[in-house]
Amino acid sequence: ATPTAVTAGIGRGAELGILIKKGEALEVSERVSVVLFDKTGTLTEGKPEVTEIIGEDSLVLAAALERKSRHPIAEAITRMASLEGLEVPEVEEFRSIPGMGLTGKVRSTGPDGTGSCLVLAGNRALMRDFNVPLDPLMDKIDELESGGRTVVMVAADGALRGLIAVSDTIKPGSYLAVRELGRMGVDTVMVTGDNRKTAEAVAGEIGIHNVISEVLPGDKADIVSEFRRKGEGVAFVGDGINDAPALAAADLGLAIGSGTDVAREAGEVVLVGDDPLDAAAALQLASRVMSRIK
Ligand code: ADP
Ligand code: MG
Repeated sequence: ATPTAVTAGIGRGAELGILIKKGEALEVSERVSVVLFDKTGTLTEGKPEVTEIIGEDSLVLAAALERKSRHPIAEAITRMASLEGLEVPEVEEFRSIPGMGLTGKVRSTGPDGTGSCLVLAGNRALMRDFNVPLDPLMDKIDELESGGRTVVMVAADGALRGLIAVSDTIKPGSYLAVRELGRMGVDTVMVTGDNRKTAEAVAGEIGIHNVISEVLPGDKADIVSEFRRKGEGVAFVGDGINDAPALAAADLGLAIGSGTDVAREAGEVVLVGDDPLDAAAALQLASRVMSRIK
């Protein structure tokens, strides 16, 4: 039978916006020694905004592709394009490459008639795969990334045409979560698909010293398993589709309430208020409940 303390703990959790699906979650919480946080949508609001546009036609070219994507970056770019009243061309042979960006053929009307060019919008890895040299804008890319911006590089027919920088607001609860977990002797790690410089800049602001960046969408669960192999009790906090395997692989999966259905299903705990600080509150609640049982 479920001990009264566990039932009471689940009830108290519900009041705090910490939805505990099963009593066992309280037991494993006690063993958590490290909390891995997804970045976008978990530590940040997940609603990036365009902050800088470099290059004459970079926004219209990127928007042509991003219109077909549902990534938060895509929403920021399409919103900006419609705000500027741009007429966005059609795309053929659209492809989305997870963890890298988008490609497609955009029709163009040049002096020599109608043609089409291969357009790319994405990160360094995408540009590397298509042999697009970044030299002309390398310093600018470094500068933006060091400032915590995610830079979308835009190329057409093998040449870099410009950059679109997006910035995502850090949730106030992120700073507090890291401080509170630290006080409890629990380590914090950021795990993200974003590039190293941007990730380190954002983590630095939050106070997270351990950053695992440029993680491909399928690889987050492996990172969780690695920590577990080292003997750590691992909690993972995430919101996205690609966080679901990591949430399931962790000793304790905490899903952000407004996140994707798959993430909410994969987690043992749902943080209804979308607040990373509630991850610390969940662990504290668990330790209070468990001390009453023993
Ligand atoms: P995360 O959720 O941590 O941002 P993703 O795997 O979704 O990780 O994306 C990793 C990186 O891939 C992004 O930071 C971005 O550079 C690039 N990327 C993914 N989707 C897009 C897109 N639609 N447009 C441009 N870049 C993208
Ligand atoms: Mg996310």
